[in-house]
Amino acid sequence: MSTTNLDAALIPALIGAVGSEHVITSRADMEGYTTDWSRRFSGPAIAVVRPANTAEVASLVRICAESGVPMLAQGGNTGLVGGSVPAATGTPPVIISMLRLNSLAPVDELSGQVTAGAGALLGEVQRHARAAGWEYGVDLAARDSATIGGTVATNAGGIHVISQGMTRAQVTGIEAVLADGSVISHLAGLDKDNTGYDLTGLLCGSEGTLGVITAVRVRLHRPVGRTTVALIGVDSYESAVALIHSGATPGYRLRAAEVIDACGMRLVQQVTDLPWPLAARWPLVVLLEVIDGGTGDGLAISLDADAVVGLEPGEQERLWKYRERQSEAFSSLGVIHKLDVSVPLESLAECCRELQKVVAGFPDVQEFGVFGHLGDGNIHVEIFGPKADDVAVDIAVLECVSAFAGSISAEHGIGRAKAELLNLSRSPAEIAAMRAIKKALDPQGLFNPGVILD
Ligand SMILES: Cc1cc2nc3c(=O)[nH]c(=O)nc-3n(C[C@H](O)[C@H](O)[C@H](O)COP(=O)(O)OP(=O)(O)OC[C@H]3O[C@@H](n4cnc5c(N)ncnc54)[C@H](O)[C@@H]3O)c2cc1C
Repeated sequence: MSTTNLDAALIPALIGAVGSEHVITSRADMEGYTTDWSRRFSGPAIAVVRPANTAEVASLVRICAESGVPMLAQGGNTGLVGGSVPAATGTPPVIISMLRLNSLAPVDELSGQVTAGAGALLGEVQRHARAAGWEYGVDLAARDSATIGGTVATNAGGIHVISQGMTRAQVTGIEAVLADGSVISHLAGLDKDNTGYDLTGLLCGSEGTLGVITAVRVRLHRPVGRTTVALIGVDSYESAVALIHSGATPGYRLRAAEVIDACGMRLVQQVTDLPWPLAARWPLVVLLEVIDGGTGDGLAISLDADAVVGLEPGEQERLWKYRERQSEAFSSLGVIHKLDVSVPLESLAECCRELQKVVAGFPDVQEFGVFGHLGDGNIHVEIFGPKADDVAVDIAVLECVSAFAGSISAEHGIGRAKAELLNLSRSPAEIAAMRAIKKALDPQGLFNPGVILD
């Protein structure tokens, strides 16, 4: 069937499923859904549909499956690996925007869990939990745009992994629509439940390639209480890594350990009114947050360290801004090659030195900076200069990381950006197993084709 004939049959069916006001077909109105946050990735879609509930999602999946049309589940479109928008070439998909599935059930006080619609924003889930005296363990700078479903679909990391773990560690249940339109709903949130394959764990991090997640149940934590935040200037990655173990006084726990290099510090000052925060200029600035009741007692840094300490929430928020606004600061330059990688901590310093040399070999690179989640060995390598579709420097960086036994994707996922390079982090046997799972759950290959597996 030609695209036009296909659309002629498909669009009325989509309208029948969700109502005409929730089917968008004009290219201009679809723009915000077809171009990603970084503006590096974009591609055409047949339509954007905005279902209100799981039954509507199931109808949409059935309609697309019967027509053999690809589908792309989209949350807040803050993903950074091109998986949240259509490919530039190939058959355009129907984008299923999940933002209307934003219900929040009351917090279950007995289990300390909450069930949320996939389209609820991460920030809304956090505030909902806080209002009930709990805390959700995942936090990241895109909290007020990213959806809880998107963070589950990408197994998002963020700033509290060192203390709370990745998203998968929080998820106790999932509801999802599979490729034939059937619904799996496993939301009882049992902590102990060894009944066969862990479909919840499998869908977590599947980046929309195995099903559409419609609701999630997540565990909450009691608030950690007040903390102390510090920015500390250091001369090397060795010194930065050492702070992960020595930065907290025995008996106290780190909540976050982040790093920003001199390039990131310069750029963040350009997009904000933040001054240089320390007495001297340093190649690296480490941000530590320690759980100590906000007394400063938990922070173990030498008296002659060049540091600024925040005990009060307002001051802490100001110190966090240097780190939280890094993505925005780099993106203010234009289209950035963003490479989210992780390296064993013992190799991080050497790998970062090697990366300097690797990137220096590309004369079109105008800016090269690093920031990220130091405590997890997770750095974001940001490169400005090469054209958006020139991936030579990306490949060189990922090969370098792989040589240090690192992961080519620490927390953002594989998306389209790294699908061809999955072999740098996964063996042929692992990739074959992934392909078998994909084939079994999505035999027509209609869920987000080209993402994770090229
Ligand atoms: C400023 C900024 C800071 C960030 N910081 C971090 C960070 O610290 N840690 C981190 O891990 N990430 C970070 N990210 C990346 C991004 O926020 C996460 O990947 C987030 O989890 C994406 O959520 P989303 O709702 O925007 O999903 P989208 O971008 O819409 O989608 C991402 C992927 O998930 C799939 N998907 C989305 N919803 C569903 C669903 N309901 N069912 C099935 N598949 C679905 C999509 O198909 C796509 O493949 C950051 C991004 C920005 C812009």
